[in-house]
Amino acid sequence: MRQKIVAGNWKMNKTLEEANILASEITGMVADEVKGDVKIIFCVPFPYLLPIKNQLGNNTRISVGAQNCSEHESGAYTGETSAAMLKSLGVPYVILGHSERRQYFGEDAALLTKKTDIALKHGLTPIFCCGEPLEVRESNGHEALVKKQVEESLFHLDADTIKKIIIAYEPVWAIGTGKTASAQQAQDMHAVIRKHLASKYGQAVADSIAILYGGSVNAANAKELFACPDVDGGLVGGASLKSREFAEVIKGA
Ligand code: 13P
Repeated sequence: MRQKIVAGNWKMNKTLEEANILASEITGMVADEVKGDVKIIFCVPFPYLLPIKNQLGNNTRISVGAQNCSEHESGAYTGETSAAMLKSLGVPYVILGHSERRQYFGEDAALLTKKTDIALKHGLTPIFCCGEPLEVRESNGHEALVKKQVEESLFHLDADTIKKIIIAYEPVWAIGTGKTASAQQAQDMHAVIRKHLASKYGQAVADSIAILYGGSVNAANAKELFACPDVDGGLVGGASLKSREFAEVIKGA
């Protein structure tokens, strides 16, 4: 039985003061209302990692995550943040390969392989994102593309290492559009990803890997999406910026 995970991707939003309020409101709601052992992750902007982590203290249910890291170890890379720095802050998770990074910052498979390797080297857990744009879905190429994205950046890992990865399937057409994948579409793709993992690593390894769904998850659709057998929770954008809404999403897991 895989643990459910709900991660909020705050993207480039909130002032520090707003971020502190949001985190503390969600923490309170989780403590009061959420039973069970859902793992919650706040993927916050870099400057807020330490303050939010400090605010969470020894909360065992909620962790922080970064939204990116450099492919380089250290050195003259102005403006970049390394995996070693994140580790030194005590940050356990890092989103890699988000479609916004692929689209606006030109991140490709080769780069994401390097980022994955360096994150793992420093003991971070990558939340590796994959997902197809609308035109690929419409031309029925979505399964092939997502399999390729997973394969190109992750299949060089050995079985013990790939078990440390969290995968997030985020169809680009569902991100920030209010147009979510149906539960059936999500389940179908998650099953394809898991089958692909099983073909390379065997069923037991594939069954141990968490695959999250992302793309317009909200309080109204979370329960149905998270109830799918291969959907192990969500990576949530807009709805993670509102405490009540995010608490309801978490309750859907
Ligand atoms: P939305 O939930 O706003 O569609 O964003 C999803 C996402 O990109 C999470 O990483």
